[in-house]
Parts: sequence; structure tokens; C-alpha cells
Amino acid sequence: MNASFKTILMTGAILGVIGVAISVAGCASAPTLPTATSVAAGVTRVDLGDVRVTTLKEGSAQRVLDASFVKNASLEEVRQALAAAGLPGDRVEIPFTVFFVEIGGERVLFDAGNGEFGAATSGKLLESMSKAGIDPASVTAVVISHFHGDHINGLRNKAGELVFKNAKIYVPEVEWNWWMDDARMAAAPEAMKGTFQAARRVFGPIASYVVKFAPDSEVLPGIRAVAAHGHTPGHTAFLVEGKARRLLYWGDTTNIAALFVRHPDWAVMFDMDPEAARQVRRRLAERVLQEDLLLAGYHLPGAAVGTLSRRGSGYEFTPLAP
Ligand SMILES: [Zn+2]
Repeated sequence: MNASFKTILMTGAILGVIGVAISVAGCASAPTLPTATSVAAGVTRVDLGDVRVTTLKEGSAQRVLDASFVKNASLEEVRQALAAAGLPGDRVEIPFTVFFVEIGGERVLFDAGNGEFGAATSGKLLESMSKAGIDPASVTAVVISHFHGDHINGLRNKAGELVFKNAKIYVPEVEWNWWMDDARMAAAPEAMKGTFQAARRVFGPIASYVVKFAPDSEVLPGIRAVAAHGHTPGHTAFLVEGKARRLLYWGDTTNIAALFVRHPDWAVMFDMDPEAARQVRRRLAERVLQEDLLLAGYHLPGAAVGTLSRRGSGYEFTPLAP
């Protein structure tokens, strides 16, 4: 063996040792990503150790893009951000994803979709559940992030029947107190009345046994509410405690990722208190990074569960699966 070959071998051995050291250190600071298994189109399964998450595509809705969509950026800036993500500049497509979480003995849905009340391109939750082999009657809990129609309308169909007939419904107490207040509804601007009415249609007949949880309380074993008020007065995120990995479902903390994950200081037209929503976006994004949480969001792209990283003055979301 000549000297230079011996050097290469030794260097290789040393690099190998360093490689192991780096990967061990890497494990400590950044756990490996859980595997995401595609079950069917629009259905992805992610294992968090003892907790299993299934993403259920609910559909999407398109809007013509105009200056009103982002309250505090020019149409030109918004178009540039969309172009940077390879998206068209004349419209926005808002995706909807519902999350099904098996934790302890509970089978939990996070939000309930548009049901029969949204765009023709939405309302596909039951179809996705069927592809995933999940019987709606087997759902034990539906946990609601806030009362906008795309999150609650799927709880009750047009015939008036509850869609998840054996599930307990959990709602943020602050959100309930806001939208179920008749005096506030009477005084509300016309454009907001639809949300008040949807809340009454969905929750009215079950008002006495809907479970109202307090901000930052434990909703179910392993599921903690994280107050994220701003998008709506009681908008709530949820921390799901898997043994291998923890996940934050942040509901509507961001609308389209290319705009509001990349530019967290921008306010979508649906944010009722834009400054509070902006602070929540910053605070939760920093928490996701610091605690190395998996991130899930109702309007995030792809499988809508993935990782967050820092990019420029904002962040970037990378889904675990397309
Ligand atoms: Zn929404």
C-alpha cells in the first residue's frame, strides 16, 4: 500500500467518524422527518410515533386577484410574490385540508371543511375520508379552530343532519362567545352576517352540548389549544404531542403560503384584527423553528403538513408530500 493511498484510507476513516458525530449531533437538534405515505390522491399518512395523522384534501376555491386580497401590500408586490412561487398573477387558488389524528383512543378531525356550502371545487372531505378508509361515524371528536364557513359548514349537511354523528364537538370558548352573541350579530356589517348565521345553523341545535375550551387549555389528552387570536377573535392553533415528534396545527394563521408564510407581515383580507394576526404569525413561526415542530395548516399547499425554515425576512413551508 503506498503512502498516499494509506492517507486517503485514514482520511476516509476520520471523515467517517466525523460523519457519525455530525449525524448524531444532527439527531439531537433536528429529528429526522417522519415518513409520509401517500394513501390515495389527496390523502397522506404521517406517523408521529404513537400518533397517526392523515391529511384529507377538502378541495380548493379560486378568487380573482385584486388589490383587496392583501391589505397592506401593493398588487404589484403580491403578483411578484406569486410569480416567485411559480403561481399565476391574475387569481389565487386557496387549498383546504382537514387533518384526522388518531391519538390515545380518540379519532379526531381538525376542522370540518365547507361541506355542501362552498365552491363546487370544495366539499370533498367525505370522499377523501372514504379513500382513507375512515368511517365518518367512527370520528370521536371534531376540534374547531375558528368559525369561518370553510371550517365549520361541513359539520351539518343541507338536510340538517350532523355529518359526524358520534363525535363530540370542541370549539374555542372565545370564538363561541363572539359569534353566538345576538346583539353583536345585529350590529355587525352586512358582509359579516353570513358567518354569524353559519354558526347558528351549525351549532344552534347542539348549543347545550358543544364543548367550549378555554385558551391554552388541554382539549383532549395530548392535544393542547394555543391561543392565536387575530384572524378571528377566538382563532386557535393546536399542539399535538406525538412521542416521536410534536405537530402544530395552526389553522388559518397563514392563508396562501407563497404570500403569507413568505411575507408574514402581510395581512390577508380575512384577518379581522390584522395586527394581532401578524404578531401571531411571527410568534408561532418562531416557536415552530425553536421547538422543531412539524407544521400543519388548513390552507397550506401539498399535503399541508411539513416543515418550516427561515427565508429572508420571512419563512418557507416545505410539505412532506406533494
Ligand atoms: Zn379558512
